[in-house]
Amino acid sequence: MMLLPCDYCDSKTAVIFCHVDSAKLCISCDQHVHSVNALSLKHVRSHICDNCRNEPVAVRCATDNLVLCNVCDSNAHNSSSVASFLHARHRLHGFSGCPPPSKSPPF
Ligand SMILES: [Zn+2]
Ligand SMILES: [Zn+2]
Ligand SMILES: [Zn+2]
Ligand SMILES: [Zn+2]
Repeated sequence: MMLLPCDYCDSKTAVIFCHVDSAKLCISCDQHVHSVNALSLKHVRSHICDNCRNEPVAVRCATDNLVLCNVCDSNAHNSSSVASFLHARHRLHGFSGCPPPSKSPPF
């Protein structure tokens, strides 16, 4: 699997996408960047898609145990496939605050 480096430290794997900064961050940089002040605590962030590792997630599929962005979700669960109505999916919303709810169960 292709892993995405953190925009901030460029050494760890990015797992969080900040919508305000348009930045992909690892867990420790996310905490670092978003604990600076009250304003940064309000930044809405999302986890990064388990499939493409490039986009903020939009959907969680409990059947696949994956969180997916809009593109990967429609690829995996397109309306002509059985997965689209058999898989238990729900919409994800971003989170704010610190620390992020990153550990299991993540959502
Ligand atoms: Zn980092
Ligand atoms: Zn931010
Ligand atoms: Zn994706
Ligand atoms: Zn699924």
